[in-house]
Amino acid sequence: MDPFAGFEPAVGEIRALRTFRLGPGGALFPLFGSWAWTDGANRAVCGNQAGRDHDAPHPDCTCGFYAYGSVAATADYPQSKYVLAVVSCWGHVIAGTRGLRSAYGRIEGLWLASDVPDELAEQAADRYRSARLYRDRERMLTDFPLTDLDCYEPVAPNTPTHRWFWLLTTVAIVIGTLPSTWLNATLVGRSTWLVLLGLFLLGGLAFRARDAGSARRRIVCLSVVLWLLAPFMGTGGWFFLRLPVIQTVGLAAWHRLQSERSARRFPALIE
Ligand SMILES: [Zn+2]
Repeated sequence: MDPFAGFEPAVGEIRALRTFRLGPGGALFPLFGSWAWTDGANRAVCGNQAGRDHDAPHPDCTCGFYAYGSVAATADYPQSKYVLAVVSCWGHVIAGTRGLRSAYGRIEGLWLASDVPDELAEQAADRYRSARLYRDRERMLTDFPLTDLDCYEPVAPNTPTHRWFWLLTTVAIVIGTLPSTWLNATLVGRSTWLVLLGLFLLGGLAFRARDAGSARRRIVCLSVVLWLLAPFMGTGGWFFLRLPVIQTVGLAAWHRLQSERSARRFPALIE
């Protein structure tokens, strides 16, 4: 089942979490969109050119207001470290394993981290009068408990699997850096190389790019495969396999750094 498609719960309002960009004047903007939410009810509109003839959310489209079922599920976005809102979602709702998409949304509680200047927090409180403002995230979650839908799957960013993944990635990078003559010299070297290649090839095919985390792991897996193949291609391996991998990883790291930086900017730069 997809993180935001499939299940259509037949219930009233569902409480879920989402993050925003806190713009000038305390206005809350979606991460991808330049229309600020208003106080009270908001109605989702399909932003895709081809989808203007349907109401949001549509099962075959990506439209609707996105909200998450847990704090852990919002962690892919650096903004969630500073701004989180409990939103009430209703109307047509399509839920998945991580969260839901809905037709309507209203901000009930708004948590702003201590990094947010008081003046901006006051402006936000003034703009969203029907929402309660919090500086303590846990308190907001106690006052507005999130709805637990059956279709949600637990999200634990630091599971043992996660640690194994990064440990294996490190081992594979080290092995791939060894000269091919070393790897070929012993059975242990050859089989370790082959097993790692198989594992990461499988991982690259298995991780579906359904959220930022999976997409990242998939890129890591495919990069490791190229890295492992490189020693057997001589000088060409450096130019055609390693250099692109280093560039991709460097670019991804730079992009991550930029988004971490822009998430810490208050008010956020809205284009
Ligand atoms: Zn749509």
